[in-house]
Order: sequence, then C-alpha cells, then structure tokens
Amino acid sequence: MLKLIDGKALSAKLRSGIKEEVAEIKAKGITPGLAVILVGDDPASQVYVRNKEKACIEAGMHSEVYRLPEETTEEELLARIDKLNKDDNIHGILVQLPVPKHIDEDKVIDAISVEKDVDGFSPANVGALLIGKEAFEPCTPRGCIELIKTTGVEITGKKAVVIGRSNIVGKPIAIMLLRENATVTICHSRTKDLKKEVRDADIVVAAIGKAGFITADMIKPGAVVIDVGINRMENGKLTGDVDQNALKEMDFDCYLTPVPGGVGPMTITMLMRNTLVSAKRKLK
Ligand code: NDP
Repeated sequence: MLKLIDGKALSAKLRSGIKEEVAEIKAKGITPGLAVILVGDDPASQVYVRNKEKACIEAGMHSEVYRLPEETTEEELLARIDKLNKDDNIHGILVQLPVPKHIDEDKVIDAISVEKDVDGFSPANVGALLIGKEAFEPCTPRGCIELIKTTGVEITGKKAVVIGRSNIVGKPIAIMLLRENATVTICHSRTKDLKKEVRDADIVVAAIGKAGFITADMIKPGAVVIDVGINRMENGKLTGDVDQNALKEMDFDCYLTPVPGGVGPMTITMLMRNTLVSAKRKLK
C-alpha cells in the first residue's frame, strides 16, 4: 500500500512550535525578521514569495518584501542587499531565484551576508555543510530529511539515491543523507542505468523537474520516496517527478511525498526555522 507522507501536517506542527519560539524571543526584545527580494514578475516566483510572506506573518515574524521591476540593474540589487545586510531588524535575506538574465546570480548570492543567508546557498554555508560545521542548511533539502524522518524509517546504513545534482537541491540533499549515514548515489542526465540505480534504493529523492519521470517499476518495495519536483501540467495543476497514480496501484508498501502537499510546505517551514535560528544568535 502507498503511504503518503503529509508535508502539510508536519509543516503545521513545526510552524506552531516556531510560532511559540518567536513569541518567546519577541518577549526578550528581538523580532525575527526576514527580507525577501523578488526581481521581475515570474508568476511561479510571485506565488512562492507570497507564501513565504504569509508564513512569516502567521508566525509573528517581521516580514519585508521588495518587489523590484524586471529592469532592475545588478548594482541596484546589490545595493539593496547591502542595506539589508546592515539592517538590525533583518535576520534573514532571501533573493528569489532565478533572477533575470542580466544579473549575475553568483554575485547576488555572494553579496548576502553569511550570517543572514537563511537559504544556505552561499559558498561559505555550502562549504560548512560539506565539512560538517554549523551552517544554514538549504531549506528544501532540510525539509526532505525531516520528511524521511517522520516515517520512522532509519536512514543509517540505507542505500539512498538522489536524482538531480543541482546546487540548491540534489547536491546538498546528498551531503545531508551522507551525514545521516546513508550510502549515497547521485544520478543525473549522464547516468548509465538510472532504472537499476533507483530500483536498488531504500530512499529515493527525485529532484529532476520532469513530470512522472520516476515510474512505479523503478521503486523497490518498502522504499521511502521523496518527490521534490514541481511540474505544471497543461490543465494548470501541479505534479511531481514521481508517477504517484501508478505507485498507488502497486501491491507493495512504500512511502511517498505527494505534490502538492509534500516537500513544498516544508521548504517554507525550514526557511522560517533558519530565520528564527539567525535571530536567536543575536540574543547570545
Ligand atoms: P535543475 O534543473 O537545476 O536540476 C535538474 C537535475 O535533474 C539536473 O541535475 C539534471 O542532470 C537532472 N536530470 C534532468 N534530466 C534527467 C534525466 N533524464 N535523467 C536523470 N537526471 C536528469 O533543477 P532543481 O534542482 O532546481 O529542481 C528540481 C525540481 O525540484 C524542479 O521541478 C523544481 O521546480 C523543484 N524544486 C522544488 C522545490 C520545493 O520547494 N518543492 C524547491 C526547489 C526546486 P544534469 O545535471 O546532468 O543536467
């Protein structure tokens, strides 16, 4: 039987804990503040930014959103980041990616102070994650680990296969799974026998961006499958990288995060957690 991992429910539980902690730290004089910068009017990015803003406000955090026009120059964006770096009311800064083509994404990520890089994308935070030092962990991968843990399935010693090797999802989740003592394989578009690799996996993380790419016959009975993919279908609905309907028909047990309602809500929850952690550091 297919067991769906409820990312919405887990998020709601964690967010209520975050809200309580926000109230506690506010009582000590610090309101955790997150600034989100959106350049341009990409519809998907607008939705993500709105959801982040909403979640922040619901948790009692201070939220600032800068919606900048598409023609914003790199210099203007870097100047805005610099201002926020120096702003004591802001503990986390996030620039919604992708930025328009005329802006160098790496420069933008580098400009965010490491102490406020709650997305965990800066080279310093990525490096710290790699060598096991304290770091802001990228939100989507961290959310995936929490979702796996909620199943109660032990990660240590398991074979984990990550499909996708992007800097924001594939690579960091692979490092985190390694830290949790899984034996990790990273697959990508040049992998020779992807089906065989996935078929052997106890834990599968699909971060490809292709609807229904992971088919039911690729999944080992008992596996935990985390579907990071977000793909918009012609009818406007969202779907993941895993063929959920086919998996439902299989006569074996396995776990799957649904799309929507799986990884997505957890990404925002982890962003809030990172912002709270950043604000708490100011107390010390
Ligand atoms: P990228 O496009 O940066 O990376 C996709 C990866 O998939 C690449 O490493 C690519 O391999 C691999 N890939 C593509 N085609 C194949 C193939 N045929 N076989 C094997 N591997 C393949 O995407 P992201 O990592 O940024 O995002 C992945 C998905 O996750 C997207 O759908 C995105 O929308 C979603 N996402 C969801 C989030 C959430 O909050 N739920 C947050 C972030 C992303 P190669 O490197 O060889 O090209």
